[in-house]
Amino acid sequence: MKTERPEARHVSELFEKFGGSVADGFPAIHAPTFRTQNGTPYLKAPGVVMLARPQTNVAGLAGFLEGFDPELKFPEYLEDPTPLPGSSQLCKTAGQTCYMSFGPRRTKNENAAAYFERLTSAGHGSVLEHANFSFLLYGISRSVTHELVRHRAGMGFSQVSQRYVSGTVLRFVERPEYQEDEKLHRLFEERADRAAKEYQEMADSLLERQEGGSAMLSADYKTDARKKVQQTARSLLPNETEAPMVLTGNVRALRHIIEMRADAHAESEIRNLAVRLFLCLVTADPILFGDYEISELPDGTCTVTTEYRKA
Ligand SMILES: Cc1cc2nc3c(=O)[nH]c(=O)nc-3n(C[C@H](O)[C@H](O)[C@H](O)COP(=O)(O)OP(=O)(O)OC[C@H]3O[C@@H](n4cnc5c(N)ncnc54)[C@H](O)[C@@H]3O)c2cc1C
Repeated sequence: MKTERPEARHVSELFEKFGGSVADGFPAIHAPTFRTQNGTPYLKAPGVVMLARPQTNVAGLAGFLEGFDPELKFPEYLEDPTPLPGSSQLCKTAGQTCYMSFGPRRTKNENAAAYFERLTSAGHGSVLEHANFSFLLYGISRSVTHELVRHRAGMGFSQVSQRYVSGTVLRFVERPEYQEDEKLHRLFEERADRAAKEYQEMADSLLERQEGGSAMLSADYKTDARKKVQQTARSLLPNETEAPMVLTGNVRALRHIIEMRADAHAESEIRNLAVRLFLCLVTADPILFGDYEISELPDGTCTVTTEYRKA
């Protein structure tokens, strides 16, 4: 069975090093929460949790395959002894539908890695659009999510609304560069405390004005009133504010994001995120991401590369 990547051991070592775990087939890399001396919560790394992955019903092809000349032996397709991850199976079945490659001369599942290498190396990535993965991302700053949402093609985002949620869920993200430097770390903690305090004071002042009948802050409904306070108070929140989101992307789009954002020259916080996304994806499907290599840079961070960019 060729579903193992050559450097699979390296991938699993790094997945474990980042604190990764797999529950019921769903990989996750969680991130702990820290607190300043004043109790303001913050995170030092992105948390990545796979929420959804494809499940493929190959048996469902039976009624279709049985309708062709028995000499073509299409129903054999249902008896391939090598199981694939649902995402690889879905993309492979989609690709094989193009040429009606269901008979004995088709590429068998044991050669799925070579099948996808032929597609990605030739830039025929459209079959990769069938498989979608969803993730919860947290421990990521507003500046990282601003970069992430620039990826439009094949992506869906649902991000925390700073207009709706209140200061009770406010958390911050410490950049890697501040974590090892005593002074920069102290300044970060002071900033986080100050931002949380100023936000609360501003929200309280706005609420007072609203209750005092301010025309700018008035609203007919309670939710609208709360939004008017919070949409104004959020103006003073820094880029370091945590901005959790659920992200869904098809494999073609996710590959592009990994290539752009886990590149050695990418911004360090988004690279940390892209590396974790890659580790979860390659753990879930070692075939669709089988052409990627992950390596460690001199500063101990990681980068992900492939020969077949932008399939
Ligand atoms: C290191 C780095 C530095 C950056 N610096 C800046 C900066 O200074 N300022 C700034 O504004 N942005 C910057 N960006 C963001 C960058 O310009 C892109 O907006 C972002 O990376 C999204 O990638 P994409 O354009 O490939 O789009 P995606 O939405 O990821 O689309 C994937 C691919 O689909 C195709 N596609 C998508 N939409 C269209 C379309 N409308 N028409 C035709 N083809 C389309 C393209 O081939 C595209 O590459 C930077 C990105 C990186 C990685």
